[in-house]
Amino acid sequence: MNQPMDCCGVGDPRDLSVEQAREQITAGLPSPAGIEQLPLRSALGRVLAEPVISPLDVPGHDNSAMDGYAVRSADLPVEGESRLQLIGTALAGGPWDRALEPGQCLRIMTGAVMPPGADSVIMQERAEREGEQVRIGPGHRSGENVRRAGEDIAHGASVLPAGRRLRPADIGLLASLGLAEVRVRRRLRVAFFSTGDELRSIGQPLGPGDVYDSNRYTLHGMLSRLRVELIDLGVVRDQREALRQAFTDAAAIADVVITSGGVSVGEADYVKAILAELGEIGFWKIAMKPGRPLAFGRLGEAAFFGLPGNPVAVMVTFYQFVQPALRRLAGEPESLPQRFRVPCLSALKKRPGRSEFQRGSLAPQADGSLAVSLTGKQGSGILSSMSRANCFIVLDPASEGIQPGDLVEVEPFDGLV
Ligand code: AMP
Ligand code: MG
Repeated sequence: MNQPMDCCGVGDPRDLSVEQAREQITAGLPSPAGIEQLPLRSALGRVLAEPVISPLDVPGHDNSAMDGYAVRSADLPVEGESRLQLIGTALAGGPWDRALEPGQCLRIMTGAVMPPGADSVIMQERAEREGEQVRIGPGHRSGENVRRAGEDIAHGASVLPAGRRLRPADIGLLASLGLAEVRVRRRLRVAFFSTGDELRSIGQPLGPGDVYDSNRYTLHGMLSRLRVELIDLGVVRDQREALRQAFTDAAAIADVVITSGGVSVGEADYVKAILAELGEIGFWKIAMKPGRPLAFGRLGEAAFFGLPGNPVAVMVTFYQFVQPALRRLAGEPESLPQRFRVPCLSALKKRPGRSEFQRGSLAPQADGSLAVSLTGKQGSGILSSMSRANCFIVLDPASEGIQPGDLVEVEPFDGLV
């Protein structure tokens, strides 16, 4: 992998840009997870390992799109009217196999297979039935109201590409092809732990200066949405041996190891020494806020992400770097979170030279258009403004702040997971 640069100082021009960090991560990832075969229903949210080729035409036969009368278009009048002899009824699931002779028509219900010889369906509202005769006027088109065999999916066509994360419509689509099982990527095993002597687990009393470990809970939530296998290794103290053991254990059982805390200035040297013994890790400074320090590399076979400790920095770096990497390792193609531009109702302070990810709330205005406003204080430890947010407001490095009414780029959270 590329050797990342290592530097220091706020606004240092040697800091990596967000894009550079992303590129280096992509270049340093191992190959995607192996393949397994699953029953269709269990494959929801999993990633296709191979394209799915249709074994059938869908629909399987020409069939009626309306309740009406199946006719031969040669029998339809150009002007005046035709009187056709009614010879029976075709229901969905009850095919009619006798051919339609010239001058005949067949009552047909939506979804019923077209009888041989017929090529059009006259909707019932446009025909008059008189006993065993049906009167039809002019103005019809040959082939109308008929769904053609294979018009949805042709036999042999590629239905879904490799790398597709399966959604409910996809599962239904595969069921419509009669497929009982699909080949998907194995779930990634992701081990994670928090580091810090000040951290207490829920249920323990808080001493002076202690805080509850929240990062493991946000990570658990963000990872759960990606359908990975979670390996929660708890809180690890800032002690050389404890950390060495935790990194070694995690790398032995997981495809990806994620930690929070311990990579900021002052702590980095300590953790750095241990990680340098165990793997090939770059300690980066990224020109972004929050989330400037980040460690990335390989611990044995596993990919390693050392996220900053501050609770919002954990989330921002997870969404910008870890989630795209996990998607790649799960077999998905390269993709970035959806972004779009909306007016910002708040004034935003910003220094040029780094990307910022501020916490916003997107809401419809009186005229129905969307606008975004800030959800509160933006400190990298302030999780409450993150909890109130439904999007990131993404400010590029050149931006020197935003006046109310300016357009800003937003990344909605629901597009992230
Ligand atoms: P660090 O990156 O280890 O220097 O941590 C930066 C800040 O984030 C400190 O205020 C830590 O107390 C806080 N912090 C680190 N880890 C966690 C965690 N797991 N849960 C909540 N806060 C944390
Ligand atoms: Mg720490």
